[in-house]
Parts: sequence; C-alpha cells; structure tokens
Amino acid sequence: MSDSIDLEYFKKSLEQRLKELTDGHKEIRPLDTGPVARGPAIPHGCHATQAITQAAARLAAMEEQRIRTALKRMDAGDYGYCIHCDEAIAEGRLRVDPSILTCIACARNADKR
Ligand SMILES: [Zn+2]
Repeated sequence: MSDSIDLEYFKKSLEQRLKELTDGHKEIRPLDTGPVARGPAIPHGCHATQAITQAAARLAAMEEQRIRTALKRMDAGDYGYCIHCDEAIAEGRLRVDPSILTCIACARNADKR
C-alpha cells in the first residue's frame, strides 16, 4: 500500500466523475486527455457536430471504463501504479486525471504509436 498519495481524495474525485458520466449523458464533458478532444473547433450547425457528439460519447464510455478499473485497483491496493510496468504513477499526474492507469513513460510510448 502506498502511503504517499491521498487515496481518499482520488477515490472521491473518481466517484464524482463516474457519477457525472453516468448521470448526465446529456452534457458530456470529456477531460482533455486524448487526441480526439484536442481536435479543431467546429462551427455550430455543421454536420460534423454529430460526429463530434459520437466521439465525445465514445470518449466518455472509455473514461467510464478507466474510472471503474481505477476504482477496482484502488480496492485491490494497486491504485497509483502503472498497469504496464508497475512503477508508481506521479501524484501530479493523478491529480490531472485520477483515472489514469499508466506512468508517464508508458503513456509516452503509447503516444508514439
Ligand atoms: Zn509504466
């Protein structure tokens, strides 16, 4: 068990975020963590907005999955460790997105693909 990170804080943020995702499928506001969320701005009324909405829904579903995994890992005492290499994930990284499951090194490797 790690004693360096504030598990209660992260658990609360994860549960709150999960509630947001499952409660209001009307207003999905994905975290800006992936390349999809950083696409160019699309003018209102454009046909592409539907695709954006679908992309946002997909992103939200992925995030929901990540959050559930993170909460499960929290119960197992594995939270805060990279799912790929078992290294501790920097707390600053978890504060940006508590559902993150990989360390910065593995995330960089994944981005390169
Ligand atoms: Zn790693």
